[in-house]
Amino acid sequence: MRVKFWGTRGSIPVPGKDTIKYGGNTTCLEITLENGREIIIDAGTGMRQLGMEIISNDIKHIDFFLTHSHWDHIQGFPFFAPIFRKDISLNIYGVSPTFERLLDILKGQMEFIYFPVQFKQLGAKISFKKFDPKGIDLDGVKVSSIMTNHPLETHAFKFEENDKTLVFMTDNELDHQVIATTPYDKQVDFVRGANILIHDAQYKKEEIDKYKGWGHSSWQETVALAKKAGVEKLFFTHYDPSRTDTEIDEIVIEANKISGKLSVLGAREGNSFEF
Ligand SMILES: [Zn+2]
Repeated sequence: MRVKFWGTRGSIPVPGKDTIKYGGNTTCLEITLENGREIIIDAGTGMRQLGMEIISNDIKHIDFFLTHSHWDHIQGFPFFAPIFRKDISLNIYGVSPTFERLLDILKGQMEFIYFPVQFKQLGAKISFKKFDPKGIDLDGVKVSSIMTNHPLETHAFKFEENDKTLVFMTDNELDHQVIATTPYDKQVDFVRGANILIHDAQYKKEEIDKYKGWGHSSWQETVALAKKAGVEKLFFTHYDPSRTDTEIDEIVIEANKISGKLSVLGAREGNSFEF
């Protein structure tokens, strides 16, 4: 599996001198499976650049998964060049109850008062696929999902290929005192033994009390989850828009002091890795 980060920011894009290293674009992740399938999770503003690369690499089919429809996860979609190409097909997977609204969500943000090109004018062959809660099979790769704790229904996704497991879990409040969609133990089970966990780390421990119920986690809670679940490598993502590169550097250093065997990194826009 090859993974590339195209957007690592939460809430709103924040270009500028303080976000050059970890990036200012909102959530978008590319996964290239060993079986050749091209996966995208979320359509944050990072999706624009990914679209250009997909075209230059001549990729013709994409499987797209949406965690949820808040702005920072959908705004890049109208700027994703492959949707204008007749020679490209796109499967859009949604989990109920988001699935029932997927077309309205994507069409709605392209209405003429927001955007000059309408959804019905798109060139790509777009199919909406209802995600089976028990999981789906993509040419031998198991994809499963779980609901996170967020004000709007939001899903984490797990990809299992051969003996490798990746979990992408963002917009998740691990301290579920206010939002308790999925109990902590179930989340631990979902993540258990993953080689790679990419998880929301929007806040610090000393900030999180102000944001209870907003559907995000502190980096300390994220490390605790990964340790408890026996994860090999953890990437922080969905950084708060006001978090600077320097602060993220410091957070990653602090995290590795308490992480034991677990290796912790900060997801950086433009970086990729294989495992
Ligand atoms: Zn978000």
